Amino acid sequence: MRLHHLNCTTMRPLGGPLILGRHGARTLGCAMVCHCLVVETAADGLVLIDSGFGLGDVHDPRGRLGAAYLGLVRPELSESMTALRQLEALGYRRDDVRHVILTHMDADHAGGLSDFPAATVHVYQRELDVALTPRTLHDRARYRPSHWAHRPRFRGYDERGEAWFGFRAVRDLEGLPPEVLLVPLTGHSHGHAAVAVDTGAGWLLHCGDGYFHRDEMRVGRSACPAGLRAFQAIVQADGGARVANQDRLRALVRERGDDVRVFSAHDAVEWEELAGLA
Ligand SMILES: [Zn+2]
Repeated sequence: MRLHHLNCTTMRPLGGPLILGRHGARTLGCAMVCHCLVVETAADGLVLIDSGFGLGDVHDPRGRLGAAYLGLVRPELSESMTALRQLEALGYRRDDVRHVILTHMDADHAGGLSDFPAATVHVYQRELDVALTPRTLHDRARYRPSHWAHRPRFRGYDERGEAWFGFRAVRDLEGLPPEVLLVPLTGHSHGHAAVAVDTGAGWLLHCGDGYFHRDEMRVGRSACPAGLRAFQAIVQADGGARVANQDRLRALVRERGDDVRVFSAHDAVEWEELAGLA
C-alpha cells in the first residue's frame, strides 16, 4: 500500500511558543501542520484523509475563513500547499481522489473538499448533522458552510460497528477496502473520528484533533503545553468524552504501540517523522 503524508498548510497560531511549547519541528520551527494522509487503493483510486485548506481558502481567505480566524490561527495559505496541488505535483489528477474521509468538519480539515467535487465524503452522521445544521453559537462559529456549498456527496455513518484494539463501534466504509476504518473519537467535536489504516506493516491511526501535541501521547509522563491545553478545552464539544478518549489513545500507545502508530492532525514533529523529513 502506497501512502503520502501531506501538510496541507502550515499554521503559526498567535502566541507561538506559548501555545505550542518551545521545541519546534526541524523544518518548520514553531508551527502546526494540517496532516493529511493519502492512501492509494488497488481498486478505487486515492483516499484522502482530511483535506486541509483548499484553493477556495487561498483565493478568498476572508470570505471563507473570516478575519478573526485568520488573525488567531494564521494559516500560511498558498496554492502549492493545498492537497490538490501537492497531488498534481506527485503526478495525480483531481479525479483520482475518489474518497475523502473527514475526522471532522472544522475549517482546517474540510477546506479542501471543494477541490475534489467528484469524491464521496465519508464522515460520522452526527458530525454532518451538527455542521450542516448548527444549533448553538459555538457550533455556528466553528463550521464554514462555504466549504460544502458545492454540495459534496456525503456518506454519513452511525456509531455502530466492531471492536478494534479496545475501541468499540469501528466501521468499514462503503466502497473502501477493509484496511481503512472509521474509529469514533468524539469530544473535540460532536462526531469526531479517527481513521485507521492497515499499511501491511502495522496500523496508522490518524487521530485528527483527538489530541494536538505529541507529548500528550508520551507513555508514562504525558504532557501538553498550557496554551494548547487551554485551547483544546475552549473549542471542545464534549470535555468528558475528549478526556476519556485521550486516555484510551494513551492506553493504545502503551499496550499496542508496536502495532499502531498514532498521530495528530496538527503536530509538526509527528508529520516530519512520518513524511520522512525528520
Ligand atoms: Zn484541526
